[in-house]
Amino acid sequence: MRLKKRGLLVSALAVAGILTFTACSGDAGGNAGDAPKPETSSFPSGSTMAKLQKQGSITIGTKFDQPLFGLQGPDGTPVGFDVEMGKLIASKLGIPADKIEWKETVSKNREPFIENGTVDIVVATYTINDERKQVVSFAGPYYTAGQDLLVLKGNPDGIKSVDDVKGKPVCTVSGSTSLENIKQYTDNIITTDTYSNCLEPLRNGKVVAVTTDNVILAGLASQNEGEFEVLDKPFTSEPYGIGLKKDDDQFRTFINDVLEESYKDGAWAKAWEATAGKVLKTPEPPTVDRY
Ligand code: GLU
Repeated sequence: MRLKKRGLLVSALAVAGILTFTACSGDAGGNAGDAPKPETSSFPSGSTMAKLQKQGSITIGTKFDQPLFGLQGPDGTPVGFDVEMGKLIASKLGIPADKIEWKETVSKNREPFIENGTVDIVVATYTINDERKQVVSFAGPYYTAGQDLLVLKGNPDGIKSVDDVKGKPVCTVSGSTSLENIKQYTDNIITTDTYSNCLEPLRNGKVVAVTTDNVILAGLASQNEGEFEVLDKPFTSEPYGIGLKKDDDQFRTFINDVLEESYKDGAWAKAWEATAGKVLKTPEPPTVDRY
């Protein structure tokens, strides 16, 4: 079965004319210096791949305030696992890391930014779900997170699981699955634009918890050492996808091929280890869903 799948992938790549191999470029770190090398491939004319390759640049939407996945560095360029996934896709289009335009996307503007062409793709802790599939398409998943709770260090409110937040104030972000999911547990919800904006209300006792994906919370906890802890009781499944224009099936297949290849050749694991892996264990890559 594995072999069969592999065969199919190889022939799909060969048909698309993108069966190229390059040597790995050192340590896939969090900065552009050791980004994957751009590759030369030929794409079907009229495809998004051909257009981006000719253009020599790509605009990628990501988070700017989420340590481990997408965090803006001192030079303005973001770093993290999402950013590495973006660089990997760009490199397979022949686009070097310094020709990527990074655009901050917050949770609620991801679909509109894809729909109106502000970005070519979104790699931003973006859960694949049916509602979003009505307006955008997704490649992936390339990681599966789970929604959890962030509380003050020492857990002064004694929250043991999500069931304990009933009626209590929690902070999350509008336009996220985190908001939709937590509504089932409490109606006392403060919403803002970014998860980092939820930290002050948690510090000053306005809320008892911040809720979103465990890996986002782990990043915020590691950035503010000694202040917060993640409950580590995930209560949802959040498969992260790469958002692109709805029904651009050729582009979606291309990105899925790039992801699958990276699961096999070690590029995905290397990207993880250089970023989120500094704090979190290296997981198994998920299975791509070619819906
Ligand atoms: N993965 C969830 C979502 O896509 C929560 C994280 C986020 O808002 O980026 O809505």
